[in-house]
Amino acid sequence: MDCLFCKIINGEIPSSKVYESENVLAFKDINPMAPVHILIIPKKHTDGANTLDESNVGVISEIMLTARKLAEENGLEDGWRLVTNVGEHGGQTVKHLHFHLLGGKKLNTELA
Ligand code: 5GP
Ligand code: ZN
Repeated sequence: MDCLFCKIINGEIPSSKVYESENVLAFKDINPMAPVHILIIPKKHTDGANTLDESNVGVISEIMLTARKLAEENGLEDGWRLVTNVGEHGGQTVKHLHFHLLGGKKLNTELA
């Protein structure tokens, strides 16, 4: 499949990996919006939060716990944000489900 993040998962495209398990990969965003900007993705392709179903429940839980662990490892005790963009209006540019872990500064509070 012609998917950028699937290519990162299979090593075709290099990335700065920060965490990997059987089902989850986390790597640094190439264009960071904050001092810490990590993308956390399921290894099994699904387009986005709009294509989730029961089969994804386990990996979503693992992604949440991975976010907490990476926030702790990166010294984000003052706070952090976990965001997923969906579709054109949500600003999603890569059609492989991903969560942005952002922190390391006081984040913009304007969400929309
Ligand atoms: P979206 O806008 O879809 O929510 O987020 C996609 C993110 O992927 C963007 O923050 C963008 O900087 C990041 N990104 C796009 N291409 C690459 C790449 O080749 N490598 C990495 N590490 N991040 C990428
Ligand atoms: Zn993919």
